[in-house]
Amino acid sequence: MKYFSTRDLKKNQPVSLKEAVLKGLADDGGLYMPEFLPKLSQEQISGLQQLELPEIATRLLHVLMGGEPDIRHLEAICRDVFNFPIPLVQLSDQLYSLELFHGPTLAFKDVGARFMARLTSLLMQESRKEVRVVVATSGDTGGAVASGFHGVEGIRVFILFPKGRVSMMQQKQLTCWGDNITAIEVDGSFDDCQHLVKQLLSEKADYPHFNLTSANSINIGRLLPQAVYYLYAWSRLGCKPGIGVSVPSGNFGNLTAGLLASAAGAGISAFAASTNINDVVPQYLKTGSFVARPSIQTISNAMDVGNPSNFERIMHLFAAQPMENRLHGFRFSDDETREAIRELSTQFNYSCDPHGAVAYLGLKDLLACLPSLSKGIFLETAHPSKFQEVVEACTGRAVYIPDRLAAFMKKKESFLVMENKLNKIRECILA
Ligand SMILES: *Cc1c(COP(=O)(O)O)cnc(C)c1O
Repeated sequence: MKYFSTRDLKKNQPVSLKEAVLKGLADDGGLYMPEFLPKLSQEQISGLQQLELPEIATRLLHVLMGGEPDIRHLEAICRDVFNFPIPLVQLSDQLYSLELFHGPTLAFKDVGARFMARLTSLLMQESRKEVRVVVATSGDTGGAVASGFHGVEGIRVFILFPKGRVSMMQQKQLTCWGDNITAIEVDGSFDDCQHLVKQLLSEKADYPHFNLTSANSINIGRLLPQAVYYLYAWSRLGCKPGIGVSVPSGNFGNLTAGLLASAAGAGISAFAASTNINDVVPQYLKTGSFVARPSIQTISNAMDVGNPSNFERIMHLFAAQPMENRLHGFRFSDDETREAIRELSTQFNYSCDPHGAVAYLGLKDLLACLPSLSKGIFLETAHPSKFQEVVEACTGRAVYIPDRLAAFMKKKESFLVMENKLNKIRECILA
């Protein structure tokens, strides 16, 4: 499989998987996409219901990635990455929650980060050049990337996080690692951090001793594995039509992965792009114009994104077909989100984090506007204990704290403090 930039419409600059993953961002500033979107065969789809998660991962990614890495390596990576459950929890006749938070840092980003770490490690085995990974986080990415890459030989990771904008627990999870992981607190917003990463990667400098790449969802190596759980969830509901999926979205990597899964054969009938008041994409779907703007802080802070980078990939995917039929945008305020957390608790006895609650609201709206849907899945992207204060204030009930989260709280933080200045950050990362 070759990969092309979303801006290389004539397909003049094919790159290998290795180049796409180790570069992160294409030279023209676009994002890498597979050259074409292969489909699972009917036999491959009808056999899915008998398979477990790691096997479904191998089957899908083998097709989606066109056979590279080879099946033996891919299988080993998938077994290793998907070693925690992704339960589809039924709340009612119609409603399901896909719990993506059972990984080491209790956020769905564990899936992409763990896969990319193992893939990067495999791809650089021959080159012997060090890899430096720079990543911006609005909360959960940093912890998941740190956990995924910690201790991986030949890779150094730099995490930029916005000062005062991540929860205490999130900060612990990204500052507690040491070794090959360096956390940097930036005096700015998430968008500033993301901008710094993009600027660094777009300098196209050729560093003799290392490759510089990003582990944000701009990296195709993080995005592809996320397609797996869409296919998996759809197979657990019997591979039937009439299923809608609501995705709590910020940078829109997760939703892009859903569209990739759908193109590969997951027969998901419709998607909800569910956001908090940072609703650039729902606005676009409504008005046809995409207007990026500074992000606003909310209780679903991992979705506080004012200029979603994967929108470019979504446009690319939908270039051939109109978006309106398959993709519906919904936005919700913090008050509505709190009300949803309360409702999930009282109606379904279900403890939900603010991101999942936004997805739940989007799913209800999606089902209401498309009566042809018989069932709906919302993605629950973080464990409620990561947002303990908000959730407990809404429900009046204590949130269960898993042991591995409690263990993070006891660890010591260490991080660098920097101004929002490219030259300072560059100096630190290139040193
Ligand atoms: C990152 C994140 C999201 C948003 O995912 P995108 O791929 O950026 O759209 C949603 N929920 C949680 C908990 C997250 O950490």
